[in-house]
Amino acid sequence: MKINIIGGGPAGLYFAILMKKANAAHRIKIHERNGPDDTFGWGVVFSGKTLANLRAADAESHAQITKQFEAWDNVDVVHHDAKISIHGNSFSGIARLQLLKILQRRAEELGVEIEYRSEIQDAESLKNDCDVLLAADGVNSTVRLRYAEQFQPELDVRTNRYIWYGTNQLFHGLTLTFRENDAGVFAAHSYKFNSSTSTFIVECDPNTWEQAGFAQLGDEQTREYLGNVFAVDLNGQPLLSNNSKWINFLLVKNKNWFFENVVLIGDALHTAHFSIGSGTKLAMEDAIALADAFHERTDVDEALTNFTSKRRPVIQDYQAAAFESMVWFENAARYMGLSPLELAYSLMTRSGRVSYEDLKRRAPEFIRLYEAG
Ligand SMILES: Cc1cc2nc3c(=O)[nH]c(=O)nc-3n(C[C@H](O)[C@H](O)[C@H](O)COP(=O)(O)OP(=O)(O)OC[C@H]3O[C@@H](n4cnc5c(N)ncnc54)[C@H](O)[C@@H]3O)c2cc1C
Repeated sequence: MKINIIGGGPAGLYFAILMKKANAAHRIKIHERNGPDDTFGWGVVFSGKTLANLRAADAESHAQITKQFEAWDNVDVVHHDAKISIHGNSFSGIARLQLLKILQRRAEELGVEIEYRSEIQDAESLKNDCDVLLAADGVNSTVRLRYAEQFQPELDVRTNRYIWYGTNQLFHGLTLTFRENDAGVFAAHSYKFNSSTSTFIVECDPNTWEQAGFAQLGDEQTREYLGNVFAVDLNGQPLLSNNSKWINFLLVKNKNWFFENVVLIGDALHTAHFSIGSGTKLAMEDAIALADAFHERTDVDEALTNFTSKRRPVIQDYQAAAFESMVWFENAARYMGLSPLELAYSLMTRSGRVSYEDLKRRAPEFIRLYEAG
C-alpha cells in the first residue's frame, strides 16, 4: 500500500511506525512542515493504562519512552496556601520533543520516509497519489479545512485563555494551583517531565484576562505578571517561554471521519481539554486503532469504516469527560469559596469518571480527611 501522511506529530509518526512494522512493503511518506528539532510546548503526560497500550503496540518505542520518564501517583491541589495530595493516580511525563525524537528515529529505522520543512498547502495531489492519505496535521488541520464539506467539522472556540510555559521548579505530581488577585482567578496545571523541568500551563477566564491587561503586555511582562501571581509556588524560578502565546481552547469534532481515501486522526479529528491530559494519548491510540483496522481488512473503505465504528464511541466518552472538566475550569471562580479539601474533592470528581467509591478505594487517606472535614 502507498500511504501519504500530512503531519509528523505523535499521531502521524505512530501510525507510520505501526503500519511499516506490520508490513515492510508499505511505502509510507510523512510531510512535516517543521524541522526535526522544532516543537512547541514542554511536556506531555500518559496514564499507566496508556503505557500498557503503547507497549502492546510497539515494545521498542515503549522501552525508549519509559526510559526517559518522570513518574508519579499523586494529584496535588493547592488552594488558600494549603496543599492536598490525592494518591492512586499513576501518571508519567515526558518532553514532547523527546517523544517526537524517539518516534522519528523509530519510524526512520523501519524505513518510513520523513520529509521535513514540507508544508502541504493543498492535499489534493497527495490524495490522488496514494491508497490512503492520513491527515494528522493537528488542531488547525488544513486538510480538514480543505475538505470541510466532506468532513463537516464542528468547531467550538471556548472563552477561557491559556498559555503553556515551562519552569525549572519541579512539581512532583499533577499539581493544580489556584491563585486570586484583583483581576480574578488563575489556575495553573503543572507537572515535571524530566529531572529539571516542569510544564506550567496557566488558565483564566476572559474577565480575568481583560482585567489583568494581558492584551497590552509582551512576552516578558506577561511572564513577570504570572510569576508574581504564582510567586509562592514557583519559589523564585522564572517562567520559561517557548514561543508561548495565549490561546483559546478549540473543541474539535467531525461528523465524518473519512471520505474516499482521506482519513483524519489525532487533534485534526478531535480535541479533549488539556485538563484531562489526554491529547497525545488519544492521538497515539487513534493510530493503534487505525493500524489495527488495516490489519483486519485490506480494503481501504472497509478498514476506514471499521476504524470509525470502533473508535467513535471511545472518543465520544473521552470528549464528554473532558467537556465536564473544561467547564469546571471555565467556572473556577465559583468554587473559590470552598475549603481546600472541598475544592480537591470537587476537582477529582469533576469529569464524572471518578466517583466517591473510586476515591475511597484509591485514595482512602484523602477521603478520611475529606469526611473529617
Ligand atoms: C496547553 C496544552 C497542554 C497539553 N497537555 C497535554 C498533556 O499533558 N498530555 C497529552 O497527552 N497531551 C497534551 N496536549 C495535547 C497534545 O499536544 C496534542 O493533543 C497532541 O500533540 C496531538 O497529536 P497530533 O499528532 O494529532 O497533532 P500535533 O502534535 O499537533 O502534530 C501535528 C503536526 O502536523 C504538522 N502540520 C500541520 N499542518 C501541516 C501542513 N499543512 N503540512 C505539513 N505539516 C503540518 C505540525 O507541524 C505538527 O508537527 C496538550 C496541548 C496543549 C495545547
